[in-house]
Amino acid sequence: MEDCLFCNIVAGKVPSKKVYEDEYVYAFLDIAPQAPFHAVVIPKRHIASADEINAENSIEVARVFEAIAKIARQEHLENGYRVVNNCGEDGGQTVQHMHFHLLARRNLAWPPG
Ligand code: 5GP
Ligand code: ZN
Repeated sequence: MEDCLFCNIVAGKVPSKKVYEDEYVYAFLDIAPQAPFHAVVIPKRHIASADEINAENSIEVARVFEAIAKIARQEHLENGYRVVNNCGEDGGQTVQHMHFHLLARRNLAWPPG
């Protein structure tokens, strides 16, 4: 996906501050952090949104959550964290490559509003 920002980040064509990487997953610091720790965790394989998850590609979601648990240990997020997926227009999704926000190091309000 040549015109996808997050595919270009995975490819190294757009610079990012890497937090974690394995064969399937890439995580980097959000450019506009909403918490003292705010990473964006994505499957390297392009999936446009959570609404596109199906039986053929849902393994990517499992890989993302395995990575999140590793990042939490790596970053010492023992106090907890929040994982957020914005999906579609009303969900506030602005980049059309499925991603999970990993927010931590402050007390996060609930409900989020
Ligand atoms: P969304 O609004 O789609 O759920 O999340 C997209 C996120 O990507 C936003 O939090 C935004 O700050 C972040 N973002 C957008 N462009 C860039 C970029 O070029 N680099 C980084 N590191 N984050 C970005
Ligand atoms: Zn993409």
